Amino acid sequence: MNAPATANAADAARVPLMLTELRLPTMKRLWTQFAEQSNREGWPAERFLGALLQQEMNERETRRLARARADSHLPADKTLANFDFAAVPTVSKAHVMALAEADGWIAQGHNLLAFGPPGAGKTHAIAGIGHALIDRGYKVLFVRTNELVQRLQAARRDLRLPAELAKLDRFDLIILDDLSYARRDQAETSVLFELIAERYERRSIAITANAPFSAWDEVFPDKAMTVAAVDRLVHHATILEMNVDSYRRRAALPARRQRSAPQAQ
Ligand code: ADP
Ligand code: MG
Repeated sequence: MNAPATANAADAARVPLMLTELRLPTMKRLWTQFAEQSNREGWPAERFLGALLQQEMNERETRRLARARADSHLPADKTLANFDFAAVPTVSKAHVMALAEADGWIAQGHNLLAFGPPGAGKTHAIAGIGHALIDRGYKVLFVRTNELVQRLQAARRDLRLPAELAKLDRFDLIILDDLSYARRDQAETSVLFELIAERYERRSIAITANAPFSAWDEVFPDKAMTVAAVDRLVHHATILEMNVDSYRRRAALPARRQRSAPQAQ
């Protein structure tokens, strides 16, 4: 009865090497502890193996999420959990929560556009959706439009624009923050159009912008390209209209608001 529980030193010495080779770091860290407990308590082999594998899977998922979040460059504190929906009556919480659950739009490569004045919460709302999508296993990239345009222009100069676009293709959603601050006088911004055209009906783009489409002539090299870009972006898109006062300004003036509206509901 006791014989099977006797550990073989040579076997034990090989285990960590094999776990390293198989890239199972959690099992490597925990197996002796689990083995001791298992020997002590007389676990069936199935239970020992199952418990160890479960730990590896749990930690692998945790590591994967942490990596995806780091790769996303999303602002860490802008989540839906701390987004105050009451501050934006034009936006339905249920609708945003459905978008955060992916409800098909990501799989179909549909887009998401948020418009409103500075401070309205566009970046926060879209970043919050981004975080929720990462939790669901999607890959998200958050980037200032200016920075991405510069990166793509550099790639074009070095004749590696297709390679750079292909790299971006691994993201289910690219969030272009502050599109209206991209300026064609940075050079020509048609790289942005190429990104939009390349992802059209395949991969999702989210955009935050102060100015809706009418002012986008400033962003693209010419009117025809503006029209073509807008056309592709809105063809399958959800638009969040966030025409509210700056959240920062409102948060800074609570006393005054209370005085001027003493019995607001
Ligand atoms: P925008 O991108 O529209 O200029 P931001 O999303 O950057 O605005 O919001 C400005 C600041 O106010 C940020 O610190 C953001 O977290 C906060 N904020 C804006 N709207 C909300 C909201 N509804 N609930 C909580 N914080 C908000
Ligand atoms: Mg913003």
